[in-house]
Amino acid sequence: MSTTAKRDYYEVLNVSRDAGLDEIKAAYRRMAIRFHPDKNPGDPRAEERFKEASEAYAVLSDPEKRQRYDRFGHEGVGGEGFTGFNSESFIDFADILGDIFGFGTIFGSRRGRSQSGSQRGSDLRYTMSLTLEEAASGVTRTIRIPRLEACEACGGSGVEPGTRPETCPTCGGRGQVGYRRGFLTVAQTCPTCGGRGQVVQHPCRACRGRGRIEDETTLEVKVPPGVDSGVRLRMSGEGESGVRGGRRGDLYVIVSVEPHDLFEREGPHLHMKLPISIFQAVLGARITVPTISGDAREITIDPGSQPGQVIRVRGAGMPQLGGRGVGDLLVHLDVVVPRKLSKEQRKLIAQAAALGGEQLTEDDEGLLQRLRRRLANEG
Ligand SMILES: [Zn+2]
Ligand SMILES: [Zn+2]
Repeated sequence: MSTTAKRDYYEVLNVSRDAGLDEIKAAYRRMAIRFHPDKNPGDPRAEERFKEASEAYAVLSDPEKRQRYDRFGHEGVGGEGFTGFNSESFIDFADILGDIFGFGTIFGSRRGRSQSGSQRGSDLRYTMSLTLEEAASGVTRTIRIPRLEACEACGGSGVEPGTRPETCPTCGGRGQVGYRRGFLTVAQTCPTCGGRGQVVQHPCRACRGRGRIEDETTLEVKVPPGVDSGVRLRMSGEGESGVRGGRRGDLYVIVSVEPHDLFEREGPHLHMKLPISIFQAVLGARITVPTISGDAREITIDPGSQPGQVIRVRGAGMPQLGGRGVGDLLVHLDVVVPRKLSKEQRKLIAQAAALGGEQLTEDDEGLLQRLRRRLANEG
């Protein structure tokens, strides 16, 4: 062992004597990264500096040890001997260095799990199929979902009633054990108890120690008007029960709207095809069309309406989520040419054609002229 006097811990980490814990941690982090043995293979000086910084950090990051050190110097925390790394003062490298040098994986991250071993319950998904009418009006549905509930026999603890969990023999209840890596001893989550510090010798018989049992629950889901396929409704706290006092997960109801035989949806608007006769297209008409809300609306077909022409019925589309107005219904006219006519009808239509100066049989010349006229009119 070196016989030179130990350096002052504050000097080692290059921080002031009133430095806060965050500052000390940041200073140590810088040193640890710079002098880490993995980064300086075979350099005894770097190793010495790393060790020195680790020891300083172990003392200054512990309020009680720091106080003793401030009052009594190195004597107060065990004198000249190396004291930083006994089992009482672990350095959580995963916490300080994260994934640098792979500590996060070597020592196992404890993120996502609390000290007591409690764990949030899983989120659940439920796909709800709705008709377009239901999506338009909104609906209240009763659904049944299988989910894990806290075991009633043991109150969710997983411990057989009348028995108690015992202190973990491996870690003595601390939840962590020392792990030797080269000349360092660092903290690792106890493999026996998983960090809880306790082991269950008599698991609950009702839930086989899991603390939760499968159950089926009935829930009422209120679907607001205007939902579309893919909309997720979050029901907070309706997911699975947590473990050992952890929060419940959430339930996500995913909406799926079935296709409609009459209406096609485009955002807030609806499209429909309306077959009309050639006579209605020629002479004009008033037609009552159905809407998604169930009310009928009368529309006016102007005389001379063309196939594919669109009539917009304002406010007869889908309501928008959150009360942001209602879309329109777009009625696409589909002019149907009659396949069969009575003798009388044929006669009258032929007359009408003749009155319009129309030649029913056209030669190439006549057709070309008519097309040119039409192009000229449109241009
Ligand atoms: Zn343990
Ligand atoms: Zn139980």
